[in-house]
Amino acid sequence: MSFSTQVKNELCRAAMHRPCCIRAEAYGALLHATIFSHREIRLNTENAEIARRLQLLLRRAFSVDCAPRQAGSKIQLVLEHAEQLGHIFDALGYDLKNHVTYHINRNVLEEDCCIAAFLRGVFLMAGTVAGPDKKSHLELKTARHSLAGEETSLLLDLHLSPKMTRRGSTYVLYFKDGASIEDFLTSIGAPRAAMELMEAKVEKTLRNTINRQVNCETANMVKAADASARQVAAIQRVLRTHGEAFFPERLRETVRLRLAYPTDSLAELAARFDPPISKPGLSHRLKKITELSAAEEE
Ligand SMILES: [Zn+2]
Repeated sequence: MSFSTQVKNELCRAAMHRPCCIRAEAYGALLHATIFSHREIRLNTENAEIARRLQLLLRRAFSVDCAPRQAGSKIQLVLEHAEQLGHIFDALGYDLKNHVTYHINRNVLEEDCCIAAFLRGVFLMAGTVAGPDKKSHLELKTARHSLAGEETSLLLDLHLSPKMTRRGSTYVLYFKDGASIEDFLTSIGAPRAAMELMEAKVEKTLRNTINRQVNCETANMVKAADASARQVAAIQRVLRTHGEAFFPERLRETVRLRLAYPTDSLAELAARFDPPISKPGLSHRLKKITELSAAEEE
């Protein structure tokens, strides 16, 4: 199941309490119907849950009964009776004698709750959102420029600023920033999906931080290995000319162990002593050895 479908299924379970919001949600869906005219309304979806939701919205908002029917891969809700269409257009404040204008009747969306419900209807019919594993992206499509503009102003009322672009004959409102997408989904009734996106973002940030730490540790290890290689080279040069006797007795075990285990970290090498010595103790001895070797080479 795509993330969009998951979000829409969550939206389909949103409560239907207030009549004003039920009408607003139906209105949002109708303005994005395949056909929305004074002769016919035709809503297409591929999602059975959305079809059921639309049927319920039409019944509760306009007292219109319309059974979804399968048409190929799509499920359709079709209304053609003048009486049913009349109920709907009356409730939305349209004059049935005139052609439907694709302007949003703001009288139907007086409250903020209604705006969110309207946008839920829009998203169910015309929305997509990228999942938590993808780059943040949410969009609402419409074939009408006027609708895209008016829906932008509705979103602005909810303090969300979408961008608009055109794809062929389609107008697209979209968000690319995660925070806006999470706010949008939360306000239209998909808080779980919003939470999922948020958690994925936190996880990604955490993973990046860990990666940076690992890289940093790797750099430290490389530095340590370089230091060890320099020590070993210096010791070997001195040994070639003077033999082990060059080093004081108390440093000879360190010389032997460093040569035997050139890739050991300080902690590992310190543990090999019998009895083991401390890291600062070993560090001090190695420093002394390096100084003696360097002095000899000058
Ligand atoms: Zn309302």
